[in-house]
Amino acid sequence: MTLANRRILIIGGGFSGMAAAIELRRRGAEVDLAEIDPEWRNYGAGISLGGATLRAFLQLGVLDAFLREGHAADGVRICLSHGPQVAELPTPRLAGADVPGGGAIMLPVLARILADATRASGADVMHGCRFSDVRQDAEGAEVTLTNGTRKRYDLVIGADGLYSKTRETLFPDAPKPQYSGQAVWRAVLPRHPEVTTATMWMGRVKPGLNPVSATKMYLFVTEHRAVNERVDPSTFVSKLRELLGDFPAPIIQQVRSQIGPDSQIVFRPLESMLMPRPWFQGRVVLIGDTVHATTPHLASGACIGIEDALVLADELERSESVPNALKAFQDRRWERCRMVVENSSRLGQIEMELGDKEEHARIMRESLIALGQPI
Ligand SMILES: Cc1cc2nc3c(=O)[nH]c(=O)nc-3n(C[C@H](O)[C@H](O)[C@H](O)COP(=O)(O)OP(=O)(O)OC[C@H]3O[C@@H](n4cnc5c(N)ncnc54)[C@H](O)[C@@H]3O)c2cc1C
Repeated sequence: MTLANRRILIIGGGFSGMAAAIELRRRGAEVDLAEIDPEWRNYGAGISLGGATLRAFLQLGVLDAFLREGHAADGVRICLSHGPQVAELPTPRLAGADVPGGGAIMLPVLARILADATRASGADVMHGCRFSDVRQDAEGAEVTLTNGTRKRYDLVIGADGLYSKTRETLFPDAPKPQYSGQAVWRAVLPRHPEVTTATMWMGRVKPGLNPVSATKMYLFVTEHRAVNERVDPSTFVSKLRELLGDFPAPIIQQVRSQIGPDSQIVFRPLESMLMPRPWFQGRVVLIGDTVHATTPHLASGACIGIEDALVLADELERSESVPNALKAFQDRRWERCRMVVENSSRLGQIEMELGDKEEHARIMRESLIALGQPI
């Protein structure tokens, strides 16, 4: 089925929605993207990315921009709380022999790179806008947007994230996001010369450092919090420093003393959700966190959402009809996305229970191998 002149609406301009816009435009579709945020902002510290994400960036044409503005490196180092390195997980080079197997970047920088590529693709981006009505028939969907537009589409893609209105409207019985029992603290600091790739320390909480550019690195600390309660931002600096108190590793102590009000600290309780199939109804299909929001233990949430976009575009082009394409899309994505959500959740559980370190290492290793497979 050719995508030329197919009219597609994407609801949500996060990483998944932007990737869908870029890839579908590249294959000739007419794409509108409705993003609720009038300023299309993205907050936050760093985001860690594996080789599969860099492979997806290559296909989207944004790998060079990532390599210029972010940081790419091989391997994930695991250290004891007092400093010595005990293991290094290999990260296969999936985006080419000359591109390292992983990396990290500031979230707002990655959002800008993808937003620039989305605009350059020719997609019509409507900010400050959401849908108010979707009416479907066998051939398409008529969508009314809050900016007054009413238009007919061949396909609507719901990419509006964990608290998706599209999902709520079409699948009122879908599972609700669940609090995992863990929260993540993130902060941005000047880069330390010792930190050349993702490095984590083992202990009661799990701190890690990852360079996000030539001059900056981000700190993440995963903490067990039985109750999902608000934390007063005026206490962020002291709480984050306190969490690092049990780690005598010299670099962690140095980082601890550097944390201050300018460290861009973000605190996020971790939630997840895996929606069973079907992921589509008629001419509306869901992608990204809308159907498979994962905790960040495998640093692959953005990856599987972006991959959804690539696979969806591929199936639309390969299949005879839109319904066949949507079925093929969900079936091709299910196992990989299930694996990421469920393995991430199991890793979190083991950390909370201070459980079997060997099982933790085995799941990490097996998941990294699975993520290296073609999509
Ligand atoms: C603490 C934390 C750390 C993480 N770390 C990593 C990591 O290191 N590596 C990694 O790969 N992943 C990580 N993730 C996961 C990753 O951030 C998400 O999987 C990814 O951002 C999902 O993208 P998305 O586009 O599917 O959804 P979202 O990013 O939620 O985007 C949804 C978009 O839709 C818009 N929207 C919402 N409602 C509407 C509406 N009604 N109409 C129109 N627009 C709407 C929103 O404004 C937003 O722009 C992390 C997540 C968390 C919480």
